[in-house]
Amino acid sequence: MNPNAPKPCATCGKEGKITCPACSMAMYCCEMCRNRNLFQHKTHCESLLQALVERVGEIFQEIFFVFSERAYTLNISSIAKGNDIAMVSEGSNNVRLSRQALFAFPAEMLPDLQDRHAVLGVGRSEHALAYLHDFVAQMLKGDLAITLLSMA
Ligand SMILES: [Zn+2]
Ligand SMILES: [Zn+2]
Repeated sequence: MNPNAPKPCATCGKEGKITCPACSMAMYCCEMCRNRNLFQHKTHCESLLQALVERVGEIFQEIFFVFSERAYTLNISSIAKGNDIAMVSEGSNNVRLSRQALFAFPAEMLPDLQDRHAVLGVGRSEHALAYLHDFVAQMLKGDLAITLLSMA
């Protein structure tokens, strides 16, 4: 199904031309049909917005984990799995000895996604987090595309 295909008016079934200003998903042929459906649409509209907010939250969380994994600062040598706890042992974390500040995150030692996320909570680069903060702030302002263009 083409998501951009025009949907019929939710009230009368004619060709949809305007959307609900809140969720941008319900379509109507005219203002009158939109107003007539207002009460009926309210609950559906709220659940659409709720789903959207949850999806945005999931996306930010995913970005956070990808960032944390790419900018990992601990040199983990082994991970022992207890009942509901992962014990992380660090190898040499001396930047001068290892000649590196970032280390490959040992995802293969953590097959369980929950454990992986828990371990990613420690040892990630704070610089990456600071960058992520700016990234998200700009994204929310909606001028990320302009920033990326001006960086190129
Ligand atoms: Zn209509
Ligand atoms: Zn709506």
